[in-house]
Amino acid sequence: MPELPEVEALAHHLREHAVGRTVTRVDVASFGVLKTVTPQWTELHGRTVTGAGRYGKHLDLDCDGLHVVIHLARAGWLRWSDQLSPTPPKPGRGPLAFRVHLDGPGFDLTEAGTKKGLAVWIVHDPKDVPSVARLGPDALGLTREQLGELFGGRTERLKTALTDQSLIAGIGNAYSDEIMHTAKLSPYATPGKLPEEALDRLSDAMHEVLTSAVERSVGQAAARLKGEKRSGLRVHARAGLPCPVCGDTVREISFADKAFQYCPTCQTGGKPLADRRLSRLLK
Ligand SMILES: [Zn+2]
Repeated sequence: MPELPEVEALAHHLREHAVGRTVTRVDVASFGVLKTVTPQWTELHGRTVTGAGRYGKHLDLDCDGLHVVIHLARAGWLRWSDQLSPTPPKPGRGPLAFRVHLDGPGFDLTEAGTKKGLAVWIVHDPKDVPSVARLGPDALGLTREQLGELFGGRTERLKTALTDQSLIAGIGNAYSDEIMHTAKLSPYATPGKLPEEALDRLSDAMHEVLTSAVERSVGQAAARLKGEKRSGLRVHARAGLPCPVCGDTVREISFADKAFQYCPTCQTGGKPLADRRLSRLLK
């Protein structure tokens, strides 16, 4: 799932390649992705792209005051093309969901798999998108002081808090694993009980991990971003492999539809965390 660094890189790509161009046509190949009825997508036709930005994990294409807000969800992606086919796509076939023609070049929004989560809103104000309106402060600009305030009194697990978009915007499953590993904190730590020096480490780790991931992602061709993200990870999706910091084996906690990874030596005092799902099976 694309997170803050990948979406930031896509926004950067659109600022460089789409801004100044005219939306000549929008093709909706999958009506399920379109979450707004009015304004209609045809109202984008003829408008100039004036900006591109990011709200948490949402991408925003500003078409002279009419915004296309995109949430790529788990398996969605944006593919830029220097020359898009002018033939309208056949609805409901293949991964293509939404196509934006920019007078020659343009981009496709695609989604692989059967579990659909890709969402597009056409709005006059990005804040009209409910999941944008709910976002907490952005992780990239979050200060140490803000982090302390946000975490005060919170009792959920650190993993849950870091990925709660209404608390902090932009961090998902992959980068939360990386941030906690860099900060040497357990995914099961209680945010409201973290000592000051642990909050210092967490704040530093958040900036270090996200900034370096943005730097790696920006400038990469949009098609290569996913692979680039994988290459920068130290614990996420690396269960069973050695931790690059201490050499211990990276462990995994898995749930019904997702899993997270951590290093016991770096993060939990050498003790593997209890996997509730597994212990229930063993009873
Ligand atoms: Zn380690």
